Amino acid sequence: MRVRRLPRDPGPAAWNRLLEDPAPANRLEASITADWLVIGAGYAGLAAAHRLSKEAPGARIVVLDAVRVGDGPAGRNSGFMIDLPHDLTSDDYGGALEGDIAQTKDNRQGIAHAAAMAQEYGLSTEAFTLSGKINGAATAKGAAHNTDFAKHLSAMDEPFELLDSQQMQDITGTPFYQSGLFTPGSAMIQPAMFVRGVAAGLASNRVTIHENSPVISLERKGDWVARTPKGQVTAPRVIMAVNGHLNSFGY
Ligand SMILES: Cc1cc2nc3c(=O)[nH]c(=O)nc-3n(C[C@H](O)[C@H](O)[C@H](O)COP(=O)(O)OP(=O)(O)OC[C@H]3O[C@@H](n4cnc5c(N)ncnc54)[C@H](O)[C@@H]3O)c2cc1C
Repeated sequence: MRVRRLPRDPGPAAWNRLLEDPAPANRLEASITADWLVIGAGYAGLAAAHRLSKEAPGARIVVLDAVRVGDGPAGRNSGFMIDLPHDLTSDDYGGALEGDIAQTKDNRQGIAHAAAMAQEYGLSTEAFTLSGKINGAATAKGAAHNTDFAKHLSAMDEPFELLDSQQMQDITGTPFYQSGLFTPGSAMIQPAMFVRGVAAGLASNRVTIHENSPVISLERKGDWVARTPKGQVTAPRVIMAVNGHLNSFGY
């Protein structure tokens, strides 16, 4: 299958431009084999490569990305790793409460994995910190939303702290907010610093990452064969971690 649409050069990612320029990209320019091929070096691909490096010791793991690590969506987002769903429907109606609790558990597993990678690779607190988060309310409508959200949190047996305008001013230095809702489980990351730090840690640990190496076709000929403009990877197992670009591969 020829890949129908490739990620375009996304242009400068602001978080990434705050960091030192990376070493030149290690493009794939040969025909190689691997035990595992991971396509995509965002959160999903890097997390998969990290797990594989632990669960399949001795396996050769190759990661391909179309752009530089940190220039894709994983390096250019707002940096909130949030444990609680954005909208809670925990009225215990039609299993909604169980759904919110299960979603929160999944999110926390992801955050715990990110925390473990940050610790293993010695990332700074700027790259990853378990900060919690405050949802600041600047209007009466926002304040009502926070109160409503707090009720749902109580139903889920989740800890939180409601902050009044003075507490918000003490924290932010501005009288802008009427109230706030603090929940302790979120992490804050510098997205580009985080993914580049994880990629650097992985690369020194049996994982080979080729950037600026878009997969232009993926075929099964016994093993999988992924072609890039100047090389190819043959591997028995492939993990697709290309986010919305899964459609471009025909899935
Ligand atoms: C402006 C913005 C703000 C956001 N804020 C937040 C936030 O605060 N919190 C939050 O949780 N989420 C946020 N997100 C969403 C978050 O960035 C994504 O959910 C996350 O990046 C998805 O990770 P991923 O690894 O699945 O995919 P991606 O990060 O998209 O990684 C997929 C990788 O696959 C590569 N790829 C695609 N096709 C190919 C190909 N043919 N060959 C090789 N490589 C290929 C891409 O180049 C890309 O690097 C935000 C997104 C944006 C755009």
